[in-house]
Amino acid sequence: MVLGEQKNERAELRAMKAGAGQSVQRLSVLGATGSIGQSTLDLVGRHPDRFEVVALTANGDVKGLAELAIRHRAKMAVVADPEGYQDLAKALSGTGIVVAAGGDALVEAASQPADCVVASIVGAAGLVPTLAAVRQGRRVALANKECLVAAGELFMREVSAADTELLPVDSEHSAAFQAIGASAARDIEAITLTASGGPFRNWDHERLKAAKPEQALRHPNWSMGAKITIDSATMMNKGLELIEALHLFPVTISQLDCVVHPQSIVHCLVSYRDGSVLAQMASPDMRTPIALALSWPERIDTPTKRLDLAELGQLTFERPDDRRFPAIRLAREAMAAGGAAPAVLNAANEVAVMAFLENRIGFLDIPAVVSDCLDAASSGALCRAVDHIDEILAVDLAARELARSMLEKRGVA
Ligand code: NDP
Repeated sequence: MVLGEQKNERAELRAMKAGAGQSVQRLSVLGATGSIGQSTLDLVGRHPDRFEVVALTANGDVKGLAELAIRHRAKMAVVADPEGYQDLAKALSGTGIVVAAGGDALVEAASQPADCVVASIVGAAGLVPTLAAVRQGRRVALANKECLVAAGELFMREVSAADTELLPVDSEHSAAFQAIGASAARDIEAITLTASGGPFRNWDHERLKAAKPEQALRHPNWSMGAKITIDSATMMNKGLELIEALHLFPVTISQLDCVVHPQSIVHCLVSYRDGSVLAQMASPDMRTPIALALSWPERIDTPTKRLDLAELGQLTFERPDDRRFPAIRLAREAMAAGGAAPAVLNAANEVAVMAFLENRIGFLDIPAVVSDCLDAASSGALCRAVDHIDEILAVDLAARELARSMLEKRGVA
């Protein structure tokens, strides 16, 4: 478990230090130009005395990265795409900000001396730099859930070895973290993640079949990057989050559940052996869980809209529909299979989501491709036990190849 009993001493120590005079927190943001990255930097801008920006990274958005690096006086700006180097160097010339590009530079950015690294790259592309931050003993505020899906055991082992902290940014996991507090693992009966149900919650099979990317990208409650918004529509996001929760919290697969809650106000429920259920609530604004991951064990101000339950009137809950949204079941199957199966699920999903966003496959093809890949991988070497980052990266690569071949089989160019 990341958090919880054994970390309480450290939390107390931090709180004492904080009480003795708060020091500036050095922060690096991997994936600074994205939705989570920008929400993080919004908080940084609201607390100029509290945070100092070290390194910021992006994939190809040179202009966005340069603006953020200048505004937040970053020491280093890194673009993953080497082709962006010249433009970034030009945009930041004369500022004193160190500029670099490429995969090794991402790792360098993640390894810069910092108190906290926000891991907000999307997809398995974040694995290596996030792991580098963990190995340097940095506190990692983890949004990049794909790291724990593809390499959960490895990550948690490295977190322990580095004696550092992995704090969840995902709102559901942040909620579970808060609802668990210092409770003993033996007292927890179940963790129930809530799901908004996405934009297609009430759509029938025929409508889902014809759903277009622009419709799937219209999330009712959250404003997020494209990949997670599509994951939300297929409900694969909840599947990935169940796997994430398995690694973060001291529970077994059978203790993990999810429930559809269209208002996205209750983010998670933790049930205890005495029949108590503790839930965390907040308006749907990622700045609240990001703020907690940055400031824990303290709390800092955020502009999140305050809850007015009387104004909301009612909070509703329903079971996910496995027939229309099979992604949660697929994630459960991968979680139960263990080994590299979750990495296969993740890679196949990334390929299928991209194909859907490019209008190359239909909405229902996304879980179908993932299912085909899991089936094909289960009988082969792909689903072996994986112990090392190189093995996980090899599985990720092979699963992407497999997913592309599944697309070809479906006649997709
Ligand atoms: P976005 O698509 O908005 O941003 C992704 C960021 O990662 C951008 O900075 C992007 O750079 C960068 N990036 C993309 N591909 C690569 C690559 N190959 N190498 C290096 N950097 C890359 O995503 P979100 O902010 O929405 O999500 C980020 C992560 O947080 C995801 O794992 C998501 O599941 C998780 N998350 C997001 C939530 C949200 O509300 N958005 C909520 C909970 C979790 P560029 O801009 O240059 O393309």
